[in-house]
Amino acid sequence: MNYDIIKLLNLETYNIDLDKSTLIKENNTIIYYVVLKNNIATCPKCGCTDCCIHDYRIKSIKHSLLIDKPCILKYKSRRFKCKMCGSIFYENNPFCQKDEKVSLQTDLLVLEKLRSHTATFISVAKLFSITSQSVINIFDKYVSCKRLPLSEVICMDEIYTKNMKPDKYICVLLNFFNGNIIDIYPTRHYLSLLQNLYRIPLNERKNVKYIVMDMWDSYKRVANDLFPNALVAVDSFHVLQHLNIAVDMVRLRTMKKFDKGHSKLENADMYYYMLKKFHFFFKTPYAKLEDKLWNVNKIRTKWDKLTILGYLKAIDGELTKAYNLAEDYREFNYYCDINNFEEDFEDLIYKFSNSGIPEFYEFTKMIIRWKYEIKNSFVFVKGKRLSNGKIESCNSRLKIILKSANGYKNFDRFRNRCMFAVNKDTPIRNYHK
Ligand SMILES: [Zn+2]
Repeated sequence: MNYDIIKLLNLETYNIDLDKSTLIKENNTIIYYVVLKNNIATCPKCGCTDCCIHDYRIKSIKHSLLIDKPCILKYKSRRFKCKMCGSIFYENNPFCQKDEKVSLQTDLLVLEKLRSHTATFISVAKLFSITSQSVINIFDKYVSCKRLPLSEVICMDEIYTKNMKPDKYICVLLNFFNGNIIDIYPTRHYLSLLQNLYRIPLNERKNVKYIVMDMWDSYKRVANDLFPNALVAVDSFHVLQHLNIAVDMVRLRTMKKFDKGHSKLENADMYYYMLKKFHFFFKTPYAKLEDKLWNVNKIRTKWDKLTILGYLKAIDGELTKAYNLAEDYREFNYYCDINNFEEDFEDLIYKFSNSGIPEFYEFTKMIIRWKYEIKNSFVFVKGKRLSNGKIESCNSRLKIILKSANGYKNFDRFRNRCMFAVNKDTPIRNYHK
């Protein structure tokens, strides 16, 4: 019976005196009064083994191995007195570290739970019937993530954190191949990134061949200054985002022409309705739109995507021109081979520059400025096109960590929390069983 208890509480390897230890249940709490077998004590001061028991002290230790019930060890620990030098000392406590109130095994379980990005300090605290401050203390004590080695291709992106100090935007560096976080930096600004990345030995930086980023000048400057052998590639997803914003601005401008109350144009109501309802037709490649019958409630009918697109294109000449250009760019982004890049890109630039559509001015200027970085985004490494796809999925996990914790203010803890949750093999430091 007694042996079953210590097995259940995972204490078999501890030197427990089963005859003197008892288990009771109080309300919903399991309390285990535990005594260790009396071993020969050695004085920590003089090394003498001639010691006698001085007195006992009861230590309360949370040992939350049984998830459904709180469990407390009431550990009756001996204090010895050395007959040689008179010092008084505790016997070795195998359950927890000095001055701790939570057992080592509970610490480990808490840390395992925190490896999930959906866990929060509060949810884990509830699970183990300890305070959330205890969970935070355990986390801070055992988790301090080191920067990971740089990979041949690295991804760089920022994430918005709402109320982090000193900057709302932090910068995440990712391994393109396995999606692990290499490091997180507190700002995305040039000088701060320069200082942080400069600490990485030059030899290691020299091995980086590509850096994928969005069109943020500080990143490009840092890449040029600190990574002598790296080419910069712009994430094509970010380019498309800018394109979509531009097309959408044309759509909104067109919509205004047909605004209710203001417009006396023929069919204004229906045009307005269609442009509003099918806004995503302008931002999605036609091939990716679902092949189904879409509800057009205003005229109580259903149309397929070709009919809808035909309708949208008949509304306004300039909007149609904008749409066609956007489709051209999307096709180019999808199908272009790096060997035809120069020709295809120049074609596009010509069309965009001569479109006369004001919403495209900025976009055109931007892609001209980032031409070589866009070209590099058509490079394949180990069979995969360069992109920040990995970072997007990582960022969504980091956003869950941020959101479920109501935001973090302590950057170091947030950095550790993210790296611990995303990099599955992050070691636990200072743990000696
Ligand atoms: Zn002594």
